Amino acid sequence: MPVPTWIFDLDDTLHQASLGIFAHISRMMNLYMERHLDMSEEEARQLRLHYWHRYGATLQGLMRHHDVDAGHFLQETHVLDELYRWLQWEPTLRATLRNLPGRKIVLSNGPQHYIEGLLLKMDVRHQFAACYGMEKMRFRPKPDRRGFRYMLQAERLDPARCIMVEDSLPNLYAAKSLGMRTVWISRQCRKPAFVDVRVNALSQLLRKCWSALPQQH
Ligand SMILES: [Mg+2]
Repeated sequence: MPVPTWIFDLDDTLHQASLGIFAHISRMMNLYMERHLDMSEEEARQLRLHYWHRYGATLQGLMRHHDVDAGHFLQETHVLDELYRWLQWEPTLRATLRNLPGRKIVLSNGPQHYIEGLLLKMDVRHQFAACYGMEKMRFRPKPDRRGFRYMLQAERLDPARCIMVEDSLPNLYAAKSLGMRTVWISRQCRKPAFVDVRVNALSQLLRKCWSALPQQH
């Protein structure tokens, strides 16, 4: 098999966002809406839920309906010094990435400074050739295929040579439909047909991927 390019999600893939970071970002987004859009806590919570279902992200709804400045919102809701407190990752992360042959790229719906900051804190930034966040996806977050395509074009990548590593099934479905191979980080036993390989944890990537991924020519 030719050496692949690995496309990694960030949250709940390279670190355990659900253990604290997500909850903190959520609190910061609610506070932002209370402060800058003059909403009650309950209104903010309801509206975020609505935008999440309709657009896949709070920011999309705020840009479209409230004229919110995306840069301001992303900076205020992702304050790195606060988030570092909650950051948790596998102790084997560095070694796992180092032992995987091929280029590595991060594709995350988080803002650019957040991705770069977390990777630096985990001491793995140098292992990635590039990072694509919300801004570099031109505010077309996954699973919108346009976001994926901006990255593929900018990096001159053939999707058939790419392996997307993710915890989110809709994002993996989009990656597969573009021609990528897919690795799902999940403890669930059953995997859908568009997932090529499922792993419990990143540390299993090398062992499970090499033999199980379909060959592409
Ligand atoms: Mg994720």
